[in-house]
Amino acid sequence: MKRKTAKTMAILISVLMLIALLPVTAFAAEPGDVCEINGVGYDDFETALEAVPAGGTEQTVIKLLTDVTYAQLTVIINKKITFDLNGYDLIFTNRLRIRSNSHIDYTGTGSFEINMVVSDNGTGLSFEALSVQGGSTCKIAGITIINNSDGINQSVIGADCRDPGSSVVVNGDITAAGNENSYMNYGIFANNYGNVTVNGNIMATNYIIGVEAYTDATVTVNGNITVNRNIANANDGIGVQAYTGGTVTVNGTIDSDAAFIRVFYVYMDKTDITTPTTKDGYFTYSLYSSTVWVKDPCANGHDWGEWLVTVPPTYDDFGVEARVCDNCVETETRTVPKLVQDNKTMLEKFNEAIENGDWYYNEDGSITVVIDGIEYVFTSKSGNYNGNGTLFCTVNGVEYKLDRNAKGIKGVKY
Ligand SMILES: [Zn+2]
Repeated sequence: MKRKTAKTMAILISVLMLIALLPVTAFAAEPGDVCEINGVGYDDFETALEAVPAGGTEQTVIKLLTDVTYAQLTVIINKKITFDLNGYDLIFTNRLRIRSNSHIDYTGTGSFEINMVVSDNGTGLSFEALSVQGGSTCKIAGITIINNSDGINQSVIGADCRDPGSSVVVNGDITAAGNENSYMNYGIFANNYGNVTVNGNIMATNYIIGVEAYTDATVTVNGNITVNRNIANANDGIGVQAYTGGTVTVNGTIDSDAAFIRVFYVYMDKTDITTPTTKDGYFTYSLYSSTVWVKDPCANGHDWGEWLVTVPPTYDDFGVEARVCDNCVETETRTVPKLVQDNKTMLEKFNEAIENGDWYYNEDGSITVVIDGIEYVFTSKSGNYNGNGTLFCTVNGVEYKLDRNAKGIKGVKY
């Protein structure tokens, strides 16, 4: 009897041990799970991250089973993880640090982003939304970091990438905004051979550098970089900065209300182009081994606007007209022929313009008649624009008058 009981207990203990082992080894995903790895469900994301083995070369796939918002500061060391979004969003709302030959990417529809608001009021703190080091790589859909704290001398960084073999690909935008008491903020900080590609735009606000490439780092931005200083006490801020072998390629535009570019401690504006260019189709801004290339939007020709008369011609002098490229600052001018010294023709032109409707009332009641793009203003000598009185315009010493009756308007030589 005693032996039998012991045996029963042993069986019972074995069964209990099996049950204890099952949840982490063989249970399929069930309701309440947020993700799964190889068919094994996890009801919290942190446990799934911890379950990924370190080392090896194979990517471990974490498949989302619901939207996941993850608020922990995350450090991934020597792990290879592919997030299968499976139609869901994976949003980190805290820092994501990727270290020691880790490879993080995503697949499927949905979004993998960092969307972080800084509220820590500590002094001199630095917050990098994404930090990739030690030969690690990360592909992510977008990064936003906003400093809402009252902290002094803080720094926020959208993406920080450093060390040989380290790379970051951001398929969407990077938005980074410091607070009013910032030390210095960065959209991207790349250092020591780090490599960053942004396929969207970079929007950087408050005492900030849009992109910095330091010590042989390379950065490519396929969208636009917008830097908005937007802060009263900021004395600095730069669109793109390159130092000691850093290179940056911008395939969109740089729009900065602070400095445009700084290469090896030298500020350069849009026109400080290094010639000849070292990249076809790009403007080069280079000093020593550091270079910023900005795509020339007009490499295949300018996109000209309409010709507009800037100096109307007279009977004695040629006029000038100009057109401006929609994509750059290039302006082209050409002369406009002198007016023909033919009063009858002028009169005919006035009548023709009026018949064609090339005239309009001005706010004060005067009437402008437009001939060949030139505006002739008919005014009242008395200053009274009420009623149907006559208006006058003197062209080259000849006075013309305009009858303002309701039935029609005639230009008549006076
Ligand atoms: Zn142009």
